[in-house]
Formats: sequence, structure tokens, C-alpha cells
Amino acid sequence: MALRCCLNLILFSMCLCYAQFLCSSPIPEELSQIPLNFLQYAKSPEVFDWMVDIRRKIHENPELGFEEFETSKLVRAELDRLGISYEYPVAITGVVGFIGTGNPPFVAIRADMDALALQEGVAWEHKSKVPGKMHACGHDAHVAMLLGAAKILVEHRHLIQGTLVLVFQPAEEGGGGAKKMLETGVLNNVDAIFGAHVSAKYPFGMVISRPGPILAASGFFEAVISGKGGHAALPHHTFDPILAASNIIISLQQLISRETDPLDSQVVTVAKFQGGDAFNVIPDSVTIGGTFRAFSKESFIQLKHRIVEVITKQANVQRCNATVEFNEDQKPFFPVTLNDQDLYEHFRAVAGDMLGSKNVLDMQPLMGAEDFAFYCEAFPGFFYFVGMKNETVGKFEPGHSPYYIVNEDVIPYGAALQASIATRYLLEYSPKSTSTKGYSRDEL
Ligand SMILES: [Zn+2]
Ligand SMILES: [Zn+2]
Repeated sequence: MALRCCLNLILFSMCLCYAQFLCSSPIPEELSQIPLNFLQYAKSPEVFDWMVDIRRKIHENPELGFEEFETSKLVRAELDRLGISYEYPVAITGVVGFIGTGNPPFVAIRADMDALALQEGVAWEHKSKVPGKMHACGHDAHVAMLLGAAKILVEHRHLIQGTLVLVFQPAEEGGGGAKKMLETGVLNNVDAIFGAHVSAKYPFGMVISRPGPILAASGFFEAVISGKGGHAALPHHTFDPILAASNIIISLQQLISRETDPLDSQVVTVAKFQGGDAFNVIPDSVTIGGTFRAFSKESFIQLKHRIVEVITKQANVQRCNATVEFNEDQKPFFPVTLNDQDLYEHFRAVAGDMLGSKNVLDMQPLMGAEDFAFYCEAFPGFFYFVGMKNETVGKFEPGHSPYYIVNEDVIPYGAALQASIATRYLLEYSPKSTSTKGYSRDEL
């Protein structure tokens, strides 16, 4: 009897919740207003200055992958101030914040926090204070944007129907921080994730992406070619590893030009060649290293297999031996970043409402790679670029240049768009979400 009462009560509350949802469901005009309202709020001097200040602080103190301790501390201090609960540490320095009901659906927005081992060449007031380290990929702006999104969402808490998950991850630059974040299980209940990257290539005011594969799968290799050193004037007494390595490099290029379907984009680049330090001595060994990229798992695996074969067998032709390492522990293979078709449509709609549909562009896939790909393998994901090029602000060099600059005007756009996409996802997808994976967050 008690059980029946209880069941009745549950059914009644479920009906009530559904009725409340129907009554409170925003009409399309209200939905299309959300991105504009969020942008206006993000551009207000108080919020803008706060975000820019965060970005500059992080820029001055760049930290490499899995060493983002101060950055992570700054993130947590701001989340504390905003009254947002979070989990820490996740994957060493990562932080995962939660806003909303604590119940499904769960939609995540992500920022990467790491810098690059690079000496900053830009002379400006907030230049990197750490020799040999620099935020030259815009991850400092990404953190500021995600904290900005958090502030917007807290301010508009009443719109959140479900739970927003704020993912501050370490080590995007080759370290595969996303993979480690997923391994902790903290993101198990996520239904969809959105990632934004600032872009020096596209004009300010535009956003760019595509459905399906957007960034390549990527891996690194290193090979040691061992021969027999000796006098440079007596090559017949040596097994010359320099010549072997040179032939290997030529043969590796033929993997793409002769073995690959010209319509299936792939890359093999040897970017490292070390061996010998005298003009008249043939060294004992040479080390070469590089990266390989492909747009399908099959092509990637085939390329990896042939890299090993070509290096070891070609070395034998010159009477040398070779070993090949992929160092997956330090540099995990990144899968293809695969944008979900439905999330692409959602992105186009929300970004169009904010910027006008003519400013939402499609792009060709890039051979670059992102560890965001790991999220896209785990659940539907969507990655896009936010244009920031404005020649009146300065000269925009591509990412990873010592002269890389960020147009700080982009920060409110990134913050508002990420917040809008996530909020609208919850509002528009809540009723049909399949996510009810049975999880909820106790922190809330
Ligand atoms: Zn980068
Ligand atoms: Zn980056």
C-alpha cells in the first residue's frame, strides 16, 4: 500500500515536471534571443574586463601539459567566487565544474589549459614571464572564455534545464589530456560536448566548422638507425647510417605519393634528423622522428604499419639496423576529430542567431589534430573555430608561432557562444534526450 502511494506520488511528480516543462518551454523567438542576450552580457565592460584580466594572468604564467597547477588554481578560485561546485583534481590538474539541476541531460563545454615550450617573441605588457614557455595556441583565451561562459550561465541559471559540465582539461598539446580526463570516469554521463578554438586564420565575427571529420588522426614516431661509424674518407669500412636515414626519408614520402589513394588525405613528415657532429666522421647512428596523419582509422593503422616496415627494411638495404618507437605513453595517438551531424545543425542554428547565418562558415578538413577527438569517440561532440583575425589589431601569425597574438575582442564571443550552444542544447533536446543514463550529480 505504502509502495503504491509512493509510485503514485512519483508518477504525479513526473507529470507535474513534464507539464512544467511544457509550460516553461521557451518559444522560438525566446530561444533565438538567448545568444544575443548572452553576448551583450559578455561584452559588458565588467564581464569583458574580468575575462581579459584572467587571460592576461594566464598568459604571463604559461604552464606545460599536466603542469598547469597555477592555472588550475586560478580556475578553481574563480569557480569558488561564482559559487560553482567542481571536481578536482581530475587527470592531475583538470577541473570539472557543474551548473544546473544535477540531473540529465548533461552537456559539456571544454577548454584546454596548457601552453607550449616556446620563447615568446611578442613584446607587450603581458608577455610570458617564464623563459621558453608561451601560450601560442590561444589556450589562455579558451580558459578565460570558459570561465566567462560559467559566469553567463550562473547569471542565467533559470534557463538551465539539466546540467552543464565545465571541462577545464590539461595537456592538449600532444599529451592527450582529454584521454586522461575520460579515463577518470568523471565525464561518463555526458550526452554531448562542445569545444571551441580561436583561429588566427579566419576574420573576427565569423565561426567556422563542418560536420563529420574536421581534424586528422595523428601519431608520432621516432627511429634509431644504427650502422657502423668510421672515417669519412673510407666509407667502404663503414655502414653509413646517414645514407640509410636519407633513403628511409625518401621512401617514407613514397608511402603517400605511391601507396595512398590521392583522394584519401594523409601525411608523413620527418621533422627531426639527428646524427653526426663532425665533417670527417661517419657516425654510428642517426635518429629521425616525425608525425603521420590520416582521416580514417584504417588508413592510420596501415600507415603506421608501413612506416615500421619501410624504416626497418630500407635500413637493411644499407646494411644498417633500425628500431621504431611510437612513444604512445607520452604522445598518445589522437583519433580523427569527428563532428556529430545533429550537433553541427544545432551549432549552425545558435551561431546563426548570434552572428547572422552568413558569418557561420563551412571549412575543409584540416590535417591538424586535437585531443578533443577522444571526447568525440566517447559521446557526440562538436568542435569549431572562432575567427579573431583583425589586421587593425595586429599581425596574426598561425598557432605555435613565437609571434602569435590573440585578439581579446574574441573572448566574449567565444564565452557567449559556448554558453548559448549548451543552454539551448538543454532547452531544445531535454524532452527527447536519450541520456537518461541514470546518473546524477550529488555535488548540486
Ligand atoms: Zn596548439
Ligand atoms: Zn590549440
